Amino acid sequence: MDPDETLAILDEEGEELVFDEFDATVLLGLTQGFDAATVSACPACRSRVLACVALVDLLRDTAMHPGGRELVELAEDAPTLHLYVQDLATTCRHDRWLDPGYTEWSEVLREVGDRPARSS
Ligand SMILES: [Zn+2]
Repeated sequence: MDPDETLAILDEEGEELVFDEFDATVLLGLTQGFDAATVSACPACRSRVLACVALVDLLRDTAMHPGGRELVELAEDAPTLHLYVQDLATTCRHDRWLDPGYTEWSEVLREVGDRPARSS
């Protein structure tokens, strides 16, 4: 895998966008860390569950990021109400992410994500 890959955002069918560190930082900065669209999040890393409708609204309110339009399309075409953000740059095991959002997130990632954790 590309070492620059920092953040993956995917839907339940495995359609995904991957952002490098720079783009991820800009995107998270513009959206206040996706705060307004976050359904559930790991307290220790950037992995989270996003609500598609809220995400589309959030991105429309935001100065357009290069990946923003693609992300809007991903959110609009998503088969379910949620998108899943996977922090690829962490070794976090999400041990403190205890609400039901984590169960949903981990099931989707197990089905479609299947990226090895970065070993460092
Ligand atoms: Zn985590």
